Amino acid sequence: MKIALISSEAVPFSKTGGLADVAGTLYREFNRAGVDTTLFVPLYKETAEKYGKSLARMGTEIDIPMGRITKKCRVFTAAKKGRSEDHGTVYFISNDEYFGREELYGDAEGDYPDNDARFIFFCRSVLEICRKLDLRFDVLHCNDWQTGLIPLYLLTIHWGDPVFKDTRTVLTIHNLGYQGLFPAPSLEITGLDSGVFNPEGIEFYGQLNFLKAGIISADIITTVSSAYAKEILLPENGFGLDGVLRKRSGSLFGVLNGIDPREWDPAQDAFLPAAYSVSDLSGKQKCKKELISRCALKGPKDTPLLCFIGRLSTQKGIGLLAGSLDDLMKMGVDFFILGKGESGFQKMLTDYARKYPGRLYFRAGFDEPLAHLAYAGSDIFLMPSRYEPCGLGQMIAMRYGTVPVAYNTGGLADTITAPGDQTVRLFCEKIYGPAKETGFLFSQYSSESFLDEIRKALCVYDNKEVWRKMIGNAMRRDFSWKKSVETYLELYSKTAD
Ligand code: ADP
Repeated sequence: MKIALISSEAVPFSKTGGLADVAGTLYREFNRAGVDTTLFVPLYKETAEKYGKSLARMGTEIDIPMGRITKKCRVFTAAKKGRSEDHGTVYFISNDEYFGREELYGDAEGDYPDNDARFIFFCRSVLEICRKLDLRFDVLHCNDWQTGLIPLYLLTIHWGDPVFKDTRTVLTIHNLGYQGLFPAPSLEITGLDSGVFNPEGIEFYGQLNFLKAGIISADIITTVSSAYAKEILLPENGFGLDGVLRKRSGSLFGVLNGIDPREWDPAQDAFLPAAYSVSDLSGKQKCKKELISRCALKGPKDTPLLCFIGRLSTQKGIGLLAGSLDDLMKMGVDFFILGKGESGFQKMLTDYARKYPGRLYFRAGFDEPLAHLAYAGSDIFLMPSRYEPCGLGQMIAMRYGTVPVAYNTGGLADTITAPGDQTVRLFCEKIYGPAKETGFLFSQYSSESFLDEIRKALCVYDNKEVWRKMIGNAMRRDFSWKKSVETYLELYSKTAD
């Protein structure tokens, strides 16, 4: 089977969030499993700066139709040799006008205004490269709105093209909240017939919806946890697409994301000052010391260290977090926050860090090494996401023995085993320890409920033996891709039915 993974970001080449982890890791995992897999990603400025020297430019430029004009697509490859898992090929799609920018999707002003053109160009380039190089894939696996037009192109512009004769499409929705909505006139750039612009097609209340294009056209749709696959069929979580998704529910599957156990491994993480494992946690204490000292946190010895890492957006619960901070700080904790995102949230957290010097550290920005240290050096990981398709932060935290407190939704509900209220009391009274519990989930989306759950976590934290057991449960959880890779391969086979 020949698979193409198509993503607007993928580790290690580019990353703004979980999509990059998933696409990059799946690419490696498929190749490790012996599945011939190719990855298509844009060649962003940061990618070119970091990897440019190791990339090979391929042949001539390809003209990509963009409405009435054409734009040049240059193709680079990074075909790694040697290690068995690196047999696949990565195609980088380059056009400086579109991708030679500081950021992937937008800057402080907001999304780039030509994101429609940028990702129409990306989708069309992928398909033109397949045609030019005669790449015949069994499955084009598209990810999120940036690639949503591809399944529709196969049913329209490329219908009957021999290169795609046996090609089926899979669309994975990583976050339904981002749909790629653009003004109707963008239709011209897509090259699609105006007949597709209707409510049964890609129109969405007068606008063009790239994700909807994928939902109505892909052979199979997946999303990144079983719970989220059910939630998005409901009006309250469907972002206006629940009706369209319900129509396709027979072809919609939840496949849980994993994390790369080699990249996220406290026993061999180059970013950590000390290694540790579930059988010897002493290194975790050293990581905590290092984190405290780097962030100049000054709580008394053995103060619980709470942590948040993630995009600063409403979805991630920054509003709830900020609204709970004063009460949280009264609990006598230290708090580490690392995040990049909406400027209003950034300013608010900066103000809070000023209000609680030496107790609340906030670093605005994207910082991979610091994230690793914080996952390792913290005690409790907060993830109050309003909704969460899967979430990687909580899985990484558990792997590093940092106990999550999260909202009971989507992938958080699917990956965290939480004790019931009565059980927490029994833990706190040391009547018995956690058998399989790995974290805490709060079920009312309110500051009270969130703070209550943190209080419970702190109560368990005070019982070192019980806490140690919970850490052990969390660290032993298998968050590898093994099972999900198998599920994807089964689904790929299903597309041929
Ligand atoms: P998202 O919805 O943003 O994709 P996930 O939890 O699925 O959320 O994945 C987020 C990924 O990005 C995790 O690997 C997390 O560690 C990483 N991450 C998020 N924000 C930052 C940041 N500011 N610095 C470093 N890593 C970050």
